[in-house]
Amino acid sequence: MSEIPTITLNDGASLPAIGFGTYPLTGADGVEAITSALHTGYRLLDTAVNYRNEEEVGQALRASGLRRDEVWIASKIPGRHHGYDDAIASTEESLRRLGVDHLDLHLIHWPNPGVDRYGEAWRALVDLRERGLVRSIGVSNFTEANLDRIIAETGVTPAVNQIELHPYFPQIRMRAANEARGIRTESWSPLGKRQAPFTEAPVRAAAEAHEVTPGQVILRWQLQIGSLPIPKSATPERQRENLDVFGFELTAEEVGAITALGRPDGRLFDGDPETHEEM
Ligand code: NDP
Repeated sequence: MSEIPTITLNDGASLPAIGFGTYPLTGADGVEAITSALHTGYRLLDTAVNYRNEEEVGQALRASGLRRDEVWIASKIPGRHHGYDDAIASTEESLRRLGVDHLDLHLIHWPNPGVDRYGEAWRALVDLRERGLVRSIGVSNFTEANLDRIIAETGVTPAVNQIELHPYFPQIRMRAANEARGIRTESWSPLGKRQAPFTEAPVRAAAEAHEVTPGQVILRWQLQIGSLPIPKSATPERQRENLDVFGFELTAEEVGAITALGRPDGRLFDGDPETHEEM
């Protein structure tokens, strides 16, 4: 398989155009699946404190035989660590569990409106970047108001906003909001997970037209709408399939028809950042 193209972030750093989601891969099976992903060609691993698998991600990195500088590692600060000192300590613990001396990307996992301390976590990330413990800093599940608040408070714009994004929830408005601020959108649950829209007519039609699978159509749609998808699969065959999305191109009509599958209740669960609390 050919190398994954990279994209450039607003801080000048790069990221692979597609990454590997590691939730809920844990234990020996998790290490095996993540190592398999690296052998398949994935170079960006998405983990989080709350996935309880940072040790497994570190083990997979070492088992893969790849050099540290060949792989991008991204993690996330949980809601219970949003206080400034807690966010610093949380990141140092992540590094220790991963067995690495820096993260390539570190995100605030959720804004947690009830906690209302994400501004402190953001200041901690800015300082962690200064210290070289984190290369790029970003957020996840942030609304426009959340983004504008941290930008106004620090003058620093996140490089990435990782949000729920799949054909049933295409996030047209939030993608535009990210883009207007120079923030790269990253898609979580990029395939739509449990209610995967694989059997929808526009997805099936594009799969037939390009002789690819429905999963490949959806991931290609993600790339063409300008987002960075992080599909998870425990299966080597699907890992390969999900990475093999650079050899065809959807037409503008196909992209539009898939985006049109979006619906107001398209979220996978009660993951509205205005109300969702994830500690
Ligand atoms: P995905 O959309 O990646 O779907 C994963 C599911 O789809 C698994 O059940 C997998 O099964 C299956 N699958 C994968 N590839 C294929 C394929 N080609 N054909 C058919 N089925 C397939 O959803 P996730 O929720 O796992 O999201 C991906 C990542 O996003 C997570 O791992 C995590 O890193 C991140 N995330 C971030 C959140 C946040 O708040 N920031 C929230 C949720 C997720 P199998 O493994 O058996 O192949």
